[in-house]
Amino acid sequence: MVDEVDNLNLPEDLLDEIQHSIEHIIQTFDVPEENKMEVIKQINFMYSRTKYLSLTDALTRLPNRRCFDGALDKEFSRAKRYKNKLTLAMFDVDFFKRINDTYGHQCGDFVLREIANAALQTFRKSDTVFRIGGEEFAVLLTETDIDQSIIPLERFRKTIDTLDLEYNDQIISLTVSIGACQLSDDIDSEEKFVEQADKCLYEAKNSGRNKTVLNKSL
Ligand code: GH3
Ligand code: MG
Ligand code: MG
Repeated sequence: MVDEVDNLNLPEDLLDEIQHSIEHIIQTFDVPEENKMEVIKQINFMYSRTKYLSLTDALTRLPNRRCFDGALDKEFSRAKRYKNKLTLAMFDVDFFKRINDTYGHQCGDFVLREIANAALQTFRKSDTVFRIGGEEFAVLLTETDIDQSIIPLERFRKTIDTLDLEYNDQIISLTVSIGACQLSDDIDSEEKFVEQADKCLYEAKNSGRNKTVLNKSL
């Protein structure tokens, strides 16, 4: 996950701005020559730590929504330019409100962490799992088309379906609904890509939940 965050390219102008700020601090505070390297090191450390926190979800430790936006931007452009395969999947916990209502909010938090762990174990290292909302997640499957993505997505759905989580001596059963879409010529923007995957997720919910719906038509 740290790698994912580190792999995110920040815009050049933002990097320049940060560099200028560091130089400005060093000049303003008249840092002695012999301490300059140490000060730069400290500022860089604080900067990378802040960057990591700003891109990470505190509950699950997954990359967050902001990280997703950056990663999607990067992978979308790369896939378009090099004609690489790319699949975007979204999943949402079914009737999650009931888990909170029945077992309490802390149990809900525990469930979200367990789902995040299960997702990290199911998908390949090259696929990235993000928490993009309360009980909504996204997966970017690089170098993968929709036919290839059905294998890990269904494996994940079944894993959650058969996962018996124990919380305060109670067994909690849950399911997820999944929508996935592969990048195609017709999808000319990231917004459209997300919209299509979201549409599939909506269909999975509306057709009974605990399902994976794929967009093959585009
Ligand atoms: P559906 O199958 O249609 O997705 O139903 P649902 O109950 O999962 O969906 P709904 O949107 O009605 O409820 C989502 C709930 O998720 C409501 C909200 O309180 C809860 N939630 C969001 N974020 C968190 C969180 O960080 N921790 C916990 N415990 N609950 C959360
Ligand atoms: Mg839900
Ligand atoms: Mg939801």
